[in-house]
Amino acid sequence: MPPTHNSDHFGYTWGVTNTLVDPVAAPQENQESTGGTATATKRVLLLKPRGFCAGVVRAIDIVQIALDTFGAPVYVRKEIVHNSYVVNDLAQKGAIFVNELDEVPEGARVIYSAHGVSPAVRQRAKERNLKVIDATCPLVTKVHLEAIKFAKQGYSLVLVGHRDHEEVEGTQGEAPTVTQVVSTPAEVDVLVVPDPDKVAYLTQTTLSLDEAGTMIEALKKKFPNIAGPHAQDICYATENRQTAVKNVAHGADLVLVVGSRNSSNSNRLVEVSMNLGTNSHLIDKAQDIEPRWLEGVATVAITAGASAPEILVQEVVQYLQGKGYGSVEEVEVMPENVRFGLPPEIVQAITPARPAAQA
Ligand code: SF4
Repeated sequence: MPPTHNSDHFGYTWGVTNTLVDPVAAPQENQESTGGTATATKRVLLLKPRGFCAGVVRAIDIVQIALDTFGAPVYVRKEIVHNSYVVNDLAQKGAIFVNELDEVPEGARVIYSAHGVSPAVRQRAKERNLKVIDATCPLVTKVHLEAIKFAKQGYSLVLVGHRDHEEVEGTQGEAPTVTQVVSTPAEVDVLVVPDPDKVAYLTQTTLSLDEAGTMIEALKKKFPNIAGPHAQDICYATENRQTAVKNVAHGADLVLVVGSRNSSNSNRLVEVSMNLGTNSHLIDKAQDIEPRWLEGVATVAITAGASAPEILVQEVVQYLQGKGYGSVEEVEVMPENVRFGLPPEIVQAITPARPAAQA
């Protein structure tokens, strides 16, 4: 079921086209010359897909619907998604963001963020009689279910990810006694498990595809019989945004990534571009752009992490237009049209009660 609310306030619209583009070529030299010196056309390439993913749209919709349906305040454990604009906007509408459930009044309503929670958090919510609405992204839940399955089958688990990230804390919490988190090949080297033939790996959903590949290779070398998920844990949105950067970065002088510092997938987009040799910066908003970044830059590619609203992207475009980047071209590298249904707690709340059956 598609969300009944959409997040237009954030400037986001679903757009679906089916054009796959060839990798973007470097800009032509401008035909005009100034003072006898040829200058390159200053242009903006707007990558697509970019910005909100289905899990983020769903999570924001859940908070907005909860506010509309139950009234403020509604408590949210951790940032609903890792974007300061989104969090501030929802806070102004009456959402109260807390770090831990103990900050939520006994019996109140609380929403879990898109990054998921561990069973220990779910248990604490029960103890405090909290009314829970779960906004965990279904693709994070998929990884939780894999962790549970492997642990039940007696595997030692290796979770590839960043150990201070909320998603990793939640996934590790499904099987804490058998799960080890690794972030680097050096950490793989020193892993110790009870049975090297009974090991399984999982990954965080928002890793760099290339780095995850290196890590999985290192794990397979150390544990030749290692098991893994049927389909990769890195989600479609992370993969698509990285693929778009890979297609376009070589034709750009600078890649600007709109996203917050604590957004894992946004940081990875910067790394993907830098690894390809194209300078890149992560910015929360247009005002973060330092003029010196644009010196000698003809082509700026813009993308946005999965939690960054389109309104902020458009402000960056406007800023660059004001700096002489007159040509703005949207480059769709692949179509993306994924939506997730709302959780039952929300569906029940917004479904009108049926009239009693006629006698
Ligand atoms: S980035 Fe991926 S895992 Fe995270 S909320 Fe979006 S779709 Fe879900």
